[in-house]
Amino acid sequence: MPEAFLPLTDFVNEAKSIPKDHSLDQPVARWVEEEILGNEIVEAGVAILRTRGCYWSIKEGCSMCGYFNDTVPGGVSDEMLRAQWNKIRPTLEGKRYAKIYTSGSFIDPTEVPLDFADEVMSDMKNIGIEKVLIESLPEFVNPKNFNYTNAPKLEIAIGLESSSPIVLDKCVNKRLRWPHFVKVCKSARDNGAEVKAYILLKPPYLGEKDAIEDAVQSVVDAAPHVDKISINPVNVQKNTVVEKLWMRNEWTAPWLWSVVEVIERCKDLPVRVYSDPTGGGTKRGAHNCHICNKKILDELKKHRLGQGNLSGLSCECKSRWEAVKNQSSLRRNASEPYGFRSGFNNGRRF
Ligand code: SF4
Ligand SMILES: [Zn+2]
Repeated sequence: MPEAFLPLTDFVNEAKSIPKDHSLDQPVARWVEEEILGNEIVEAGVAILRTRGCYWSIKEGCSMCGYFNDTVPGGVSDEMLRAQWNKIRPTLEGKRYAKIYTSGSFIDPTEVPLDFADEVMSDMKNIGIEKVLIESLPEFVNPKNFNYTNAPKLEIAIGLESSSPIVLDKCVNKRLRWPHFVKVCKSARDNGAEVKAYILLKPPYLGEKDAIEDAVQSVVDAAPHVDKISINPVNVQKNTVVEKLWMRNEWTAPWLWSVVEVIERCKDLPVRVYSDPTGGGTKRGAHNCHICNKKILDELKKHRLGQGNLSGLSCECKSRWEAVKNQSSLRRNASEPYGFRSGFNNGRRF
């Protein structure tokens, strides 16, 4: 490991060593959002269970991931998981689509016990949920981990992040191997599940142009193996390597124009490719200038629901994005000064 990387690793490990005072009977969050189910737009019930969290995060963790901030080192008892579920349930009643996140892998039985998982799957099926999205690292995508007694149709979301081994290893710090990803996608689909892939846009150490190229190539590579692809522009989560770089002004969140370019270049592929940028329009998330942020985010939302048209969007900041992109390989790092995207106008800092 290069010496320069060590302080970042120390920084992240130190942050993980500070225990957070979470209520163990409360889920991290729950909300309702619109989603596509078949050809319809429906309301989906969404919840994040508070668990021990991702085993990889405990070991090393990915450079952009701050999910560990929401976890409980050592894990949560079945009793507390059930107490959380009782609070989540009203959010799911009357819905046909559910998304049950943890800050790790729902089908890692050491994170979410199989008996509890089986119970909640059955509960969802009984209240009329037709499809449930869960997330997992590829290593747990084995039918024995999702062979539920009675469950809605499963959609397993896997954080592929990139199909490039160099980007995965050096920028993301994730030990995912492409042949294994392909193998588990097939296994999941052969066993009746759908697969969704998350692909990152602009992990640390990539400039705007390289980030776009990496995301497009990753989508092209993943498309034959999955049912849909979400482009996840990297956002600044607390106590992460990305946050440290961002504070040093060595990396800035990607432009929304870059998100639009990736989606537009992938629009002829036979899978849905869309984006719902976390923290979009803020300085910690993908953003453009303060004039067009909302307009682009609205179009991305419509596009995600099968309605938007991303071609023909314009704003005066687009030429600044073009300049950054074209100079990408010649620039010092992946950052821009605060206010640059808005032309240093109105004292607004983005
Ligand atoms: S991004 Fe996923 S695999 Fe990486 S540390 Fe976070 S939860 Fe774990
Ligand atoms: Zn703009």
